[in-house]
Amino acid sequence: MANSDHVLFLPYPCQGHINPMLQLGKRFAARGLVATLAPTRFILRTARPEPGTVRLAAISDGFDQAGYTEAGSVSAYLDRFEQAGSRTLDDLLRTEAAAGRPVRLLVFDAFLPWAGDVGRRHGLATASFLTQSATVNLIYCHVNAGRIELPVRAAVELPGLPRLEPRDLPSYLPELICLYPAYLEMVLNQFKNLEKVDEVLINTVHELEREEMDYLKRACGAKSVGPTIPSLYLDNRLPSDSDYGFHLFAPDVALCMAWLDSKPPASVVYVSFGSMSALSPEQTSELAFGLASTGKPFLWVVRSPEATKLPRGFAEEYGAERGLIVAWSPQLEVLAHAAVGCFVTHCGWNSTVEGLSLGVPLVGVPQWTDQPTNAKYVEDVWEVGVRVRREEGGLVRRKEIERCVREVMEGGRSGEMSRNAVKWRELAKAAVEEKGSSEENIAGLIAKYCNQKA
Ligand code: UDP
Repeated sequence: MANSDHVLFLPYPCQGHINPMLQLGKRFAARGLVATLAPTRFILRTARPEPGTVRLAAISDGFDQAGYTEAGSVSAYLDRFEQAGSRTLDDLLRTEAAAGRPVRLLVFDAFLPWAGDVGRRHGLATASFLTQSATVNLIYCHVNAGRIELPVRAAVELPGLPRLEPRDLPSYLPELICLYPAYLEMVLNQFKNLEKVDEVLINTVHELEREEMDYLKRACGAKSVGPTIPSLYLDNRLPSDSDYGFHLFAPDVALCMAWLDSKPPASVVYVSFGSMSALSPEQTSELAFGLASTGKPFLWVVRSPEATKLPRGFAEEYGAERGLIVAWSPQLEVLAHAAVGCFVTHCGWNSTVEGLSLGVPLVGVPQWTDQPTNAKYVEDVWEVGVRVRREEGGLVRRKEIERCVREVMEGGRSGEMSRNAVKWRELAKAAVEEKGSSEENIAGLIAKYCNQKA
């Protein structure tokens, strides 16, 4: 292996950012490069990584004992991460060089713009990786350029985008008082120093967001590299153990698969709100009874902090045969299973792309951040599902959950949605095949920055 074939991947340390970076690393590894994923020491100590072909290393966010929860606030976390991260990334780059594996290309999460500075000090090529959709990134670019006045109170018409109502925008933009100013700052800061990086990579499939990607390509040379899903799922093959990825929580794979195996094709509603969303007890209850009244089997991920919000007796009544309630699922395996006919999702970007790429129709129940925009596209642009309507005050009632699940699984447009889902699945699969849009971009990066022939 030539010395210059090492690519280092630096994710932001949460599930939805680690997964796509790990999978991107696997694509480089599959082309014969050494790929190393370096999450934080805390993550590496507490997670269950099965990274397969990707090496692991770690940097520090300054909170090695308890990670983010130790910090108290997002801004305190990011400040310390920048200091400790810069220092330990510097150390890691030196160690790798001393071990005969000098890093050639540093791919860093756009939430960590300082990493690019460290890489450049070492003379490396740097690539900023944007984890969210091209659409959402383009919206933030327009905010940074002063083309959107905050808070947004009326529909906006912006270059490269369809007309968007306030409810279609990332949650930070229409809020009268931004409830999460540090998050808004973090997403807008992703574009800081972008002119200094060699490459801008986006976690999407060009064909899914054509106009948005074309705009970003012209504006900053952005390249799509998704879907960041192991190809074997796109090919309908079963994973080997080493393909399970990097779960921060332990899924009971055998239990979920055995339960799904016992259900007829396209009969199951899979429900997951990702790794961070927290529903109110009232919303959890409406969701629970909404699922119950569909009469369909459901596999519902209720993370342990959320379990106390389930209505009393619900898990006992539904949690074995009609339903399976788990604290964490092997989501890709679940979505790839023939028994799953609908995905009730918070529309986190990874979950949305996973549903689309595995051909599963969606019911969008967006909570915050980029999720409302992803849900808008699910319903109106890709036409692979519906998004729920909220009551005044924000609650989604059980009747609405039931209506949406029925619409997607048996309504007048369900056939069309399923056909669209299959179409996007084919496009996503083609993007990561030889000569596909994303695979060509990766081959181009390797040809440009690494000695290894792509
Ligand atoms: N995921 C999983 N098991 C679960 C729930 C989620 O493996 O029970 C994975 C999912 O496949 C996705 C990631 O966790 O890759 C969640 O990312 P997403 O962007 O959808 O949501 P976030 O957690 O960032 O809100």
